[in-house]
Amino acid sequence: MPRATTHRSAADLVAARLAPPEALRELERVAERYAVSLTPDLGALIDPDDPDDPIARQFVPDRAELDRQKSESADPIGDDANSPVEGIVHRYPDRVLLKLAHVCAVYCRFCFRREMVGPGRRRALSAAALAAALGYIREHREIWEVILTGGDPLILSARRLRAVMAALALVDHVKVVRIHTRVPIAAPALITPALARALKASGKATYVVLHANHPRELAPAARAACARLVDAGIPMLSQSVLLRGVNDDPVTLATLMRTLVECRIKPYYLHHGDLAPGTSHLRTTIAQGQALIRSLRGRVSGLCQPAYVLDIPGGHGKSPIGPSYIRAAPAAPDGECFEVEDFRGGRHIYPPDATSE
Ligand code: SF4
Repeated sequence: MPRATTHRSAADLVAARLAPPEALRELERVAERYAVSLTPDLGALIDPDDPDDPIARQFVPDRAELDRQKSESADPIGDDANSPVEGIVHRYPDRVLLKLAHVCAVYCRFCFRREMVGPGRRRALSAAALAAALGYIREHREIWEVILTGGDPLILSARRLRAVMAALALVDHVKVVRIHTRVPIAAPALITPALARALKASGKATYVVLHANHPRELAPAARAACARLVDAGIPMLSQSVLLRGVNDDPVTLATLMRTLVECRIKPYYLHHGDLAPGTSHLRTTIAQGQALIRSLRGRVSGLCQPAYVLDIPGGHGKSPIGPSYIRAAPAAPDGECFEVEDFRGGRHIYPPDATSE
């Protein structure tokens, strides 16, 4: 049997029956603009006979990507406006992003950094730029957490990651290193015991945050890769993007969250789709997102509840945008009063005498 390879072009995808031959020209135009990569592990999860396959929808280019909305922008969450030195994004007071590489194992069609990631885009941090970025972290004593992101930091070798973690281990005020990745799903064999060991830094807590959007992504090899990280003592969280035609229904979303928890991964964020160029066909409305979050409450365990968040365009940071279950009720004579909604939709008055002065 021929060895499965990574598909890196529209022609590869057509040859693998993952895209229709008549779409080739248009998909080549998409691929000229945005990087394409689909690994064998994720490609094997796609049903080529299903035109709505939720895995294909995330990685196989679509001609709709050529349509750019006025509200969409090349840097929708404002990374560049908050970058004091190359490789660093300092948006919130106590944490920074450290972007080591600008390539990924797979390229997601909805990526908010799609104008920055991919071969031939921005270059990986040079040794001098990495030294300057680490210098910035050392000088800013308010930085409590460093988030390795990219691109995907886990495509780097264990040797390079060990060197970065060793440098961060020497910075007293940094207590937490968080790593954002899709590699355990996209290329699970890269998560070796040696790589897991490389992610630990003496005296620091390391968290790995897995990007997963559909329960089928947690295939046996991906589950085993995540288990290697958790068994190595690295707690895992998840982030998912709410995507039209992928996970925007209550059953799929609940199954995704439960599957993550079963893999010892705590659901952390459900992102509303960012205003990245050519991605409107994959975005839901916020009202749809709020309805989905309501559907999770009560239906699945509290362990399975992510925070539904929006990155405010322009670099203003993330805000929770889930539905509210509490509202002011007409004031009682002796103080403020609230109406609280239970998981079945029933409403209850929270008594005004719950606290004493
Ligand atoms: S893995 Fe992350 S950075 Fe890379 S294309 Fe997907 S969303 Fe973008």
